[in-house]
Parts: sequence; structure tokens; C-alpha cells
Amino acid sequence: MLQIKLFSYLVVVLIAVGCSKDEQIYKKEVFVRTDTDANTLQSPMIQMAQKYPKDVFIEGRGSSKRVALTFDDGPSLNSLIVSDILKEQNAKATFFLIGSQLLKYPDIARYLQEEGHELGNHSLNHDHAGGWSVDDFWSRSTGETQNIFNKTFNQIPVLFRPPFGEISEEQIVFLKAKGIKTIFWSIDTKDWNTSVMDEKKLGEIVEEHLHNEAIILMHDSGVNRQYMVAALPEIINYIKSKGFELVTVSELLN
Ligand SMILES: [Zn+2]
Repeated sequence: MLQIKLFSYLVVVLIAVGCSKDEQIYKKEVFVRTDTDANTLQSPMIQMAQKYPKDVFIEGRGSSKRVALTFDDGPSLNSLIVSDILKEQNAKATFFLIGSQLLKYPDIARYLQEEGHELGNHSLNHDHAGGWSVDDFWSRSTGETQNIFNKTFNQIPVLFRPPFGEISEEQIVFLKAKGIKTIFWSIDTKDWNTSVMDEKKLGEIVEEHLHNEAIILMHDSGVNRQYMVAALPEIINYIKSKGFELVTVSELLN
């Protein structure tokens, strides 16, 4: 009973913070959010990563000069543009796919996999599911997306990225029991925010915050991605020029 109450409490806390779309977590020695002076150790993402060190990650836990580029909200036609850029640069990335998009564009998803990229689960409909019961979370969103993956690829992903970073501790524990890791990020490029973002700013964010074993958040959804697409080759060039290797999330974590 106490456990149930504790979980409910954590759900509320996680949602309260997870709703802030502008939340940024960057690593400078420990972790410092550049947009606030808040003690980032209060961040639920970091708390969860500390509490479940083998199952929840905001970045790699080693100190190698490797980083993981991640692209959320596809597959879409933009995924093909991103994939072309990655191919030219001989770089591998991780794509967190939305189940409903996977139903629309299974061939694009298969192509991404054939190109050597890793694929992860990003919910069924980009759901605000952090407040849902574990049953609903699984049957109406994450588990259903695993089923779509299974039908498409005959295999299921081992990585889940919660939309908006919203996930309850109970859901994290549930995924952990299924062998699914929860993956946040340590550099948010904010590429989705096209009203304030441009190509130059995107590059600057990566340059300023690049660190060993970073997980970098970007988006390849079907909407306007022109800044991200324009910035991506330079971002990859910069990362490589600093001696970093681009790897998939599972490679980074292993
Ligand atoms: Zn997303």
C-alpha cells in the first residue's frame, strides 16, 4: 500500500517537471541546467538515472569520446533526408519511432534499420502517458508500439524514450522488468522550436555542450525540419573534428 502511494506521488512529481518542454539538462562537471540555476539533482530524470543506473540513462556512464545522435518522432519522409546525411558522413544514429508513424511508413523504418541505425520505441501517438496507469501505458501506447515493431521487423526494441520526458517511476520499473531501458538525453538541441531556432543556434548548442558520452536530442518528424537538416552536416563535422565517434545508443551504453 505504501509502495502504491509512493508511486502515485512520484508520478505527480515526474509529470510536474516533465511537462516543461523547455527543460534542458546539460552536463558541466555534474549536471547544470543552463536555463535555470535550479539544483539539477532535483531533476526527476537525473534522480531516476541515479536510482536505476542500469536501466535509465541521460547519457553514457563511461568517459569515452563517443556520442549518440538521436532523432525522435519519425519515421517520416524527413527520416530519409537525415539518413542520407548520416550515410554521407558514415555516421550511425538512433531513431525513436512513434508507433502510428511506423504503421504509415514501415518501409522507411526498414530502410533506417538496413542502414545500420538503431531503432527505439517513442510511444504510439506521442502520448502524454506519464500519468497513465502501467496497464494503460503498456496496452494503449508502449506495448502496442512494441507489437507494431514486432509485426514490422520480427523483433522488438530494447530502448524507450518517453515523449516530453514524461514517465512515472512505476512505468520505469515495469519497463525494466521487460528488459527495456528508458533513454532521456543530455543535450537538447531544441530543434523542434522553429520559432526561435535557426541553423546557427543549433550548431552552437552542440558546440557549447558537447561532452563525452553525450546523448543528443534531435527530431525527424514530418513537420518543418529545415534548420535541423541544414545544421546536421556541420554538427557532425564538428563532433568528428573534436575526436568524437558517433555511435548508436546501445553501443554507447555497452
Ligand atoms: Zn518526441
